[in-house]
Formats: sequence, C-alpha cells, structure tokens
Amino acid sequence: MIIKNIHIKSKHIILISILTLFIFIISTLIFYYSKNKMIAITTNSDNESDFIKWVDFNVTSEALKLTADLDIKSHNNNEEIHYNWIELLAYLACIYGGNFKNFNENDLNKIVENLQNGKSIEELTSTLTFYDYYFEAYSAVLSGFIGNYSVEVLNSDNQKVFENRYGLKAFLPIAKNYYFTHYKDFGNSRSYGFKRTHLGNDLMGSIGTPIIAVESGTVEQLGWNQYGGWRVGIRSFDQKRYYYYAHLRKDHPYAEGLKLGDTVKAGDVIGYLGMTGYSIKENVNNINVAHLHFGMQLIFDESQVDSPNEIWINVYEIIEFLKSNTSEVYVSNEETKDYSRKYDFMEEFLIE
Ligand SMILES: [Zn+2]
Repeated sequence: MIIKNIHIKSKHIILISILTLFIFIISTLIFYYSKNKMIAITTNSDNESDFIKWVDFNVTSEALKLTADLDIKSHNNNEEIHYNWIELLAYLACIYGGNFKNFNENDLNKIVENLQNGKSIEELTSTLTFYDYYFEAYSAVLSGFIGNYSVEVLNSDNQKVFENRYGLKAFLPIAKNYYFTHYKDFGNSRSYGFKRTHLGNDLMGSIGTPIIAVESGTVEQLGWNQYGGWRVGIRSFDQKRYYYYAHLRKDHPYAEGLKLGDTVKAGDVIGYLGMTGYSIKENVNNINVAHLHFGMQLIFDESQVDSPNEIWINVYEIIEFLKSNTSEVYVSNEETKDYSRKYDFMEEFLIE
C-alpha cells in the first residue's frame, strides 16, 4: 500500500512537472510572439527580420487635424518651435497604449506646453518604451502627407502661376465637388471567393466620378483582378505605402494613357469610379453598389508584399481627414470624356 502510494505520488510529481514545463514553454512562446508582432525595432540591423510586423492604425481624424494644424502653422508662421505632427501622434499613442479612442485634446495641449517650456521631444519621450515603434509606424502611414510642394494658383491677372507652400499635400481620392458616402467598414467580412475580411474603406459614389491619386508615386499594378476588378496600385516614392484603388469603371477604368511604371502626382486623376470585380472574366460589373474600394498597405520589408503578412490599415479616419484637401478637375478631352486636374502640383523633390 505504502509502496503504491509513493508510486502514485512520483507519477503525480512527474505529471505536474511536465505540465509546469509545458505551461512555461507556451507562455514564453506567447510572450515572444506578441512582443515580436508588436515591435521589431532594435539597434541591431544585422538581423534581417528586424522590421515592424504589425500596425493597428486608429488615430482619429480629430487628432490628425489638430496635430497637422500645429505642424503646418508652426512652419508657416516660422514659430520658434516647429511641431512635427508624427512626433506628437507617436507621443499620444504612448499615452493611450495605441488606442486613440481615449484621445483628449488636453493631452495634446500638455505636450505642446512642455515643448513650449523648452523640453525637447527626445527628453519627453526618452522613457516611453514604445515611442520609437509608434514613430516609425506612423511615419510609414503619414510621412507623405505634409511637406513642401508647389501648386498652381491664379494670380491677379487670372493666370496660373506656381506658388511654393508647406502643408497638407495628400488629397481625398474622390475629386472635388463629387458626392460620396462611407462608413466604418474596415474588417467587415466578405464572402465572395473565400471568407475574408475587408481590408479597406468603400466610398460610395456615382459611376464615372474621377478618382484622384492620394499621394504621389509609381504605378505598380494596373489591370484586372478577380476581386478588385479594374484596379490600380500605386507605391509611394519612399516605398512604404501601397495605395489600392479598385472596382473602377467598366470599359473606361483609367485616366487617359495611364500605364504601369508611370509616375503620378498627388491630386492627379487616375481613373473613374465603377462597379467592376468579383469575376474571373474581365470587364464585368459584378459589384452591387458603385463604389471605390480604397486601401492602404504598409511595407516595412519587401517580404511583406503579396504574402500572408501584408499589413493593411484602417483608412476611414484618413479619408475623413483628407476631406479638407480635394483636387478640382475638368473635362480635358471631350472625345474620350477624360478628366484632368485643374491646378498642377509639384512635389519639392520632383522639381528640377
Ligand atoms: Zn471594399
């Protein structure tokens, strides 16, 4: 009996030890997995897997607008302190643990006050573990949005002249004076093909509405895609953002002459709103409601392109924010019914 008891006990001990070891291994794995998913920036650049693997972008349009205004005004008024909106947003993200649902303008005012009192952003953020992560992640999203550019304006003789400016240089993807509606549809489920989530924002409008390039870049994809129909994919010059515009118009999806490899400028007409897609056969309207599907993919490493590790962010708040900057268009070819932008635009780095 005693022997049997001892036998059972040692069996129990072995079982408990195995269980403990198992729990330990699992929790270690979970810890490292979540840590790696969240942040992968270290000073060791030899490690090739050292790049951001995931971004959950939920900065509100209100926070985007307030920080953008601080940035733009401080530059244009040549104030003593030049605010950088991405730094401000990264700092706020640290306060909210990345969740801007808790955004409060007072928190931004406090940061501004500290900066005005002579503190540097480095000093203020030096103890914030995730500051570098948020700064890099938000830079990938927003670095093409604000900066120096030239734009055509009318002078007193009603002639177009270029004017140099600093400000918002990303445009709403829907042309000026065209109506659209949208709602928070990122992550909703879609059933065509296979069950998957919606990785963009749908802008419902009328067929033929001119579609505008949000940011300057290179046409990387153009043509038919089973899901997106006639679509165009444009990569930002810094390679970090891939803009996806889909379901373009049947028979006449793209702006005149647009082709793979072309350089487009922010505010250019790139195509026309339609309802193509959900078909293996080309040029088929199989979407129920005419809309532009607009998506933004972040690329920190080329291995993230066309892989299960693609990072698509929620662009709903970005669309709300961009409503303040629309591109005016006119019919530039009566025969083909093609549109062009009314006022030309040049990126600072494209000016020779
Ligand atoms: Zn969509």
